[in-house]
Amino acid sequence: MVKVSAKGRPAGTRSGTRKAAVTRKAPAVRPPRNTSKAKSSRRRRPLKGAALATYAGVVWDRLHALYPDAHCELDFRSPWQLLVATILSAQCTDKRVNMVTPVLFARYPGPPQLAIALPEDVEEIIKSTGFFRAKTKALIGVANALVDRHDGQVPSTMESLVVLPGVGRKTANVVLGNAFDINDGVVVDTHVGRVGVRLGLTSEVDPVKVERDLMALFPREQWTLLSHLLIWHGRRICIARKPRCGDCPLFDVCPSSLVRAKTR
Ligand code: SF4
Repeated sequence: MVKVSAKGRPAGTRSGTRKAAVTRKAPAVRPPRNTSKAKSSRRRRPLKGAALATYAGVVWDRLHALYPDAHCELDFRSPWQLLVATILSAQCTDKRVNMVTPVLFARYPGPPQLAIALPEDVEEIIKSTGFFRAKTKALIGVANALVDRHDGQVPSTMESLVVLPGVGRKTANVVLGNAFDINDGVVVDTHVGRVGVRLGLTSEVDPVKVERDLMALFPREQWTLLSHLLIWHGRRICIARKPRCGDCPLFDVCPSSLVRAKTR
């Protein structure tokens, strides 16, 4: 009988017999489990055309059912107040902005008052929202522009809004959609961009291209609410650091889901 060493080699050899090594059948090569390569192989291919449109409808239905109350979380009573709040919300939470704006609006009720404000006084009030010098400059600038060009009123067209100081397409979309009920575009902030990519609704990172993709996928009348649904989802479940896919109603259709449908 041939004795086998503890290492599984025939005894009496230094490293087992070369012959045995050569004739032993090589084990089948299997892909490693739980590698990014293995995970990516399970991902769905990006949807296109009619399939993508159908999928977008599913996304809408499920998010709308989950957040039937979705709305703008900035407090406002007029287009002017929403414009100011949106400018202040850059790099700041809506909650913080909502703490600051009552004080600001009590001191400066409208564009005529803010247009002649001392920058240091405004800075003091909005300091906690961050970037307060730049925001003060934008607020006083936009107040002056409204007084000079629009009789102190906020215009209700994209063309008129985006030429105001400190107002870009995102801010204009917020004001048009929520203060004027005009669906001119989709608000694309950090949540909309991230959730849109994770859901496979877009593969773009440039906000203008993300907006273009979303506008092509959803009917115009859904655009304002769509941004609220994606923002609410991004704040509550599809959070940036670690999405809570186990609590997500889209876990079985989302291409980025960390939960597999059959194991849930
Ligand atoms: S399944 Fe996960 S990644 Fe996809 S939308 Fe839901 S939380 Fe986000």
